[in-house]
Amino acid sequence: MLRFGVSLRTRLTLWYGALLALTLLGFSALLYFTLQQSLARSVDERLTLRADQIEREVGPSIGGLLQPEDVAPGQLESTLSEFVQSPGIYVQLLNGRGDVVAYPPNLAGGGLPVPATSRQAIAEDRRIFDTIPVAGADANVRLLTVPIHQPGSTDVVGAVQVGESLAPLGSTMAAVGGLLLSAGLAALALAVVVGWLLTRSALSPVARITATARHIAATGDYRQRLQVTRPRLGQGDELFFLAATFNDMIARLEHLLDSQRRLLADTSHELRNPITVIRGNLSVLRRDSVPDAVRREAVFEAEEEAARMGRLVSDLLLLARADAGEAPSLRSEPVDLAELASEVVEQMRPQAGQRQLDLAVAGACTITGDRDRLKQLVANLVENAIRYTPAGGRIDVSVTGLQHPAGAVRSRTTRDRGMAVLSVTDTGIGISPSDLPHVFERFYRADKARSRAHGGSGLGLSIAAFIAQAHGGSIEAVSDGVNRGSTFRVRLPCAGPESDSVARRPEPASLPAVPEVAR
Ligand code: ADP
Repeated sequence: MLRFGVSLRTRLTLWYGALLALTLLGFSALLYFTLQQSLARSVDERLTLRADQIEREVGPSIGGLLQPEDVAPGQLESTLSEFVQSPGIYVQLLNGRGDVVAYPPNLAGGGLPVPATSRQAIAEDRRIFDTIPVAGADANVRLLTVPIHQPGSTDVVGAVQVGESLAPLGSTMAAVGGLLLSAGLAALALAVVVGWLLTRSALSPVARITATARHIAATGDYRQRLQVTRPRLGQGDELFFLAATFNDMIARLEHLLDSQRRLLADTSHELRNPITVIRGNLSVLRRDSVPDAVRREAVFEAEEEAARMGRLVSDLLLLARADAGEAPSLRSEPVDLAELASEVVEQMRPQAGQRQLDLAVAGACTITGDRDRLKQLVANLVENAIRYTPAGGRIDVSVTGLQHPAGAVRSRTTRDRGMAVLSVTDTGIGISPSDLPHVFERFYRADKARSRAHGGSGLGLSIAAFIAQAHGGSIEAVSDGVNRGSTFRVRLPCAGPESDSVARRPEPASLPAVPEVAR
């Protein structure tokens, strides 16, 4: 199901923008948190290094933590101040209870508060990292507490605490966050604009197809086509195929409309002739002083033309129904093709006059189909052969079939196996190579005058082709050229159980494609 609403271009750009925004967000978050972790780890590593160094250097004077008289006043403080070289760095010594006993004098704001977790860690003789707020500072301080032992014993006598302000880390992360946000937004905006422009160029064939379709709908000019050039690389994309399919569709429509127009013109033309004749004869009849013989002739001619018109109309109706897929359903009965051909030949014999009309049957074939329609098919072919063969010529009707293996007759070609082949060959006027491809088209006549003079409607072969194909068969025309005779060959599937193509009854027939034509 197609859903319409917002334009395809907008939808594509929105989807593309949303996906990009999500990707950028995920990537930025990952980068941000990874960087933050890494910076925090490096703060902890620096604190560890500094605490170890202080422990090493201050350790020997640790007695001063317990007995202040062991160290000169201010000695510890001045030692500690050596470790505080830059702002935001904190050092202080604690006694075993976790009270601050010394911190460098240069430390602005005095000693750091000692969190309960640090006191606990000192009591349990383990190191601990804390992050604590400091009064007056605008950022937290990362604090490492390292217990100090009595030299030569495991007794904890105090602890050293080193701290580092997290302000630089905070400002770095704020700067990185701002950068990621602004760069991400700029990249997103750029990508959306470029995407919008790219989709316009990518979808431009759709716009052209729409414009052409609109133009055709508005003007009915079915000669319009899209310029489609096959790509040099690859097979072509979806839009190439869409455009090519569109052109094909329009070409088919144009062809269909052309043939409809031609059909309408031909039909009117064909109907006008008998009407003119009938009207002429009627006006003759209206006159009082018309001799009886002329009157009879006029009535006869009018009847003939009316009958011809009737045939034309019913033929046209059949073909029109076939076109619409509403062809009258064909009966499905066993038909002996040889017997049927013989019947037609005998009926036509008087009409053949001075032409020799022969029938040759090789092998029997029963087919499943509509006897009346099949008779019409054979009659059309024999009638044409008589019509287009001058007196003294010859017409050969042959039926070659394969029904049961016992009575099998070798078919001419492999494709004839399981098929009945009915041919009507004449020594008549033949068909020129230029006419041959068109003889199955409606109202196509190589020799218009001759066809009309002999009562041809121009629909005989179209009907024959329709009947053959509606029975799952085919028809072909063969001729060596003008005055070299012609052969019309019909292939129909045999209904025998052993045959290869057991009468597969086709769908209710629609008019078949143009049949085969061979030279
Ligand atoms: P028509 O009523 O004119 O015979 P058909 O559809 O039966 O119409 O045949 C179409 C055209 O094919 C004919 O006008 C004729 O030019 C050509 N044609 C058909 N059968 C033969 C044939 N046996 N020999 C030569 N030309 C033929």
